[in-house]
Amino acid sequence: MTIVQSLVGLLLILTPTLLVWQHLGMTRVFEISPRHPYGATVADDRHEHGASVASLVRTKDALVMRCALRAGFAWPFCKLQFHLGEDGKGMDLSQFDSVTFDMRYSGTGPRKIRLHLTNFEPEFSKVGDWNSQRYDSVEFDVPAQTTFTIPINVLRTADWWITEYNVPLDKTYPRLDNVTAVEISTGSVPTGQSITIELRSLEFRGKWISNTRLLTYLVCAWIACGLLGLSLSLIHVRSSLSASNERLELLDAINKALELEARDLANQAQTDPLTGALNRQGLREVLMRRLHVAGHVDEEMAVVFMDIDHFKRVNDQHGHDAGDEVLKRFAAIIRGEVRSSDKLVRWGGEEFLLLCPETDVAHAVRMVEKLRAALAARAWPHGLRVTSSFGVTSLKPDEDFGASIKRADGALYLAKANGRNRVEVA
Ligand code: GH3
Ligand code: MG
Ligand code: MG
Repeated sequence: MTIVQSLVGLLLILTPTLLVWQHLGMTRVFEISPRHPYGATVADDRHEHGASVASLVRTKDALVMRCALRAGFAWPFCKLQFHLGEDGKGMDLSQFDSVTFDMRYSGTGPRKIRLHLTNFEPEFSKVGDWNSQRYDSVEFDVPAQTTFTIPINVLRTADWWITEYNVPLDKTYPRLDNVTAVEISTGSVPTGQSITIELRSLEFRGKWISNTRLLTYLVCAWIACGLLGLSLSLIHVRSSLSASNERLELLDAINKALELEARDLANQAQTDPLTGALNRQGLREVLMRRLHVAGHVDEEMAVVFMDIDHFKRVNDQHGHDAGDEVLKRFAAIIRGEVRSSDKLVRWGGEEFLLLCPETDVAHAVRMVEKLRAALAARAWPHGLRVTSSFGVTSLKPDEDFGASIKRADGALYLAKANGRNRVEVA
């Protein structure tokens, strides 16, 4: 942004400075004078069968043309000529706006002179044929003061030239881009008089840069600056958008990680770390959820109480770690055999509860017999043989859970009493 700001600052200073400078200065001058005479010569109408006689005197300060203007030719004249180029190669005077004369005129009658500029244009002009060059001219009254200025746009292309060379209408405007000669000629004044034109200097004046061109450049610079500013701010907006998107994504990721962690913590609080089965808190959650669905419970659930047989011996004979390993495997085997909707709870020590929703007792007994067989089929550490006793009961809709536990515990006691590795139903 600072680039654009400095550019705007620079343009704010440059714009008025350049406009004022263009208005007051930036002047270029093309001078014709005794110091720069450009092959000054005089000519008269004698070769047109006229009788006027022109002569040229050069002094230190002036080029003086003396003219005896006499009747003879239809348009009698004397003229002072300056040659700016040869063979169709002239000078470009199109960027000049005015011509300033420093001259004295003396003669009787009206004080009129003509300014001519001949412009070589290949379309119409031929080398060696003087008249084929565009003839831009103006006739005017010479003011009383010696120094005066005329605007260059008063010049007009002569009608005779337009007619003679069949110049199309759109090319009848004066052109000064290849001027080969500048002439100061006597005007339409009475013959029979002597006229003296003493030219001290003729200055074509113009601006190095025209007002229009300068304004165009400045407008272009302002537009470019505006476009630069616009694109830079677009880039800026886009990058800050993507930065805030990244921040949002990061926040989202953090949020998800926190949610996961919270869920993990909640799960840990409800899970027994050794076996991965639910603890009593987990059991409470399961029962509450069951109750929450409609405010009451309207389906049957099987409740299975299980207790590993002679588990104390495992600890006593193989150590507490082996006991832990047996507990882990026991829970894993049970979970692997039951549905995902069945919940295994570590009630305490080597005692587990299995809750099987939407399951009647007959179904539960079949399922538990499968469990018992699976336990017997597995290999255990230290070549142990691990079995369990089971007490099965059914939790009726809207029945107190504690009552069902007591029933299942009773059935388990019976299974132990009847020799262990058995299933009993209450
Ligand atoms: P029964 O067949 O009558 O159930 O005999 P039992 O030996 O399994 O019964 P008892 O309840 O007397 O023994 C349970 C033992 O389980 C006592 C205790 O040391 C052990 N125990 C309880 N919790 C853990 C535990 O987390 N890890 C280990 N290794 N042992 C445990
Ligand atoms: Mg026990
Ligand atoms: Mg036991």
